[in-house]
Amino acid sequence: MIKLKSLTNSFFRALLIMSGAFLLLPSCSKTLSSSSYVVFGTECRMTLPISSHTKYYNILSDMEKKFSYRIETSEIALVNKNAGEKPIEVSDDVFYVVREALRFSKETDGAFNPLLLPIIKLWGWDTGNYRVPSDEELRNALELTRVSDVVLDEQNKTIFLTKKGMGLDLGGIMKGYACDVLYKEMMSDGITEGIINLGGNIFVFGDREYRVAIQEPYAERGNVINSVFVRDKSVVTSGGYERGFTSDGKYYHHIIDPKTGESAKEIYKSVTVVCPSSTVADVYSTAIFVKGEELRGKFLSLYPDSDIITYP
Ligand code: FAD
Ligand code: MG
Repeated sequence: MIKLKSLTNSFFRALLIMSGAFLLLPSCSKTLSSSSYVVFGTECRMTLPISSHTKYYNILSDMEKKFSYRIETSEIALVNKNAGEKPIEVSDDVFYVVREALRFSKETDGAFNPLLLPIIKLWGWDTGNYRVPSDEELRNALELTRVSDVVLDEQNKTIFLTKKGMGLDLGGIMKGYACDVLYKEMMSDGITEGIINLGGNIFVFGDREYRVAIQEPYAERGNVINSVFVRDKSVVTSGGYERGFTSDGKYYHHIIDPKTGESAKEIYKSVTVVCPSSTVADVYSTAIFVKGEELRGKFLSLYPDSDIITYP
């Protein structure tokens, strides 16, 4: 269901409370229209100087139908189902995202890994039926997460997961990619100002700066620890506090260390990446959360227009 509201900026200031961050808008007066919609299992919100946002939500819904491993008929689900059996031909955008995700895995020295589905399933992150897997289960599942076991055929646009049980989960990159796609589409539609917020993956653009405030991890929603002023950039936060469960007094969260198959050690409670590309911000907020300091320098030298804010 799409909720549409026409709002003045000052009213907006009170309303925009995000999962990883808030947006505090400057008090100039242009009327923006805000809407929200649940897609990718999360609340997506757009704030634009036009009243109908349906076209953009349709783009997100179409992406979900192709990319979600949870939807049996999606291209990604089909690739996963045929793991160890045969290559599957996919659309250009699916091929592109998977190729990029695998490339990022190498670039982040394995901290980002789009092949963690067998691990995600063991823990129940896919269904919400959480459990702590045994060491042996984790060892076996880790065997199915190697990037070198994926065969991409550029010519025929096929993806082949060569071992049975392998599976793609693009949860760590898709919201960023979708933000970038929407931004490009809006620009080509002549929309020169706006805010896209896909479950905390924020992209702001236009001729003024926006203040994005960062949520304090494990605190009441709305508690701010820091804020950044941005324009034509994406702000993405990853944190273990976003999704987790406790078993025998121990807290487990959804960001996995691909080396161990367990929740990544919380080197930081949260990592915020500010970057002109939302895809890069999404990938690296997850990867730096996993790997910590080691990746910080590499990231900043590869993406000099970017910034990293860690907490604590
Ligand atoms: P991020 O830090 O950006 O990513 C963490 C997520 O990426 C994890 O949840 C896991 O899926 C994966 N991941 C974990 N560790 C790593 C790692 N080291 N490297 C790479 N990836 C990793 N959720 C639902 O509950 N219901 C749905 O119906 C649903 N549908 C979705 C459909 C699509 C197309 C996508 C992309 C996601 C969907 N989700 C759904 C997932 C939900 O939106 C996730 O919460 C979100 O993708 C995780 O993003 P994040 O910003 O919280 O965390
Ligand atoms: Mg991410």
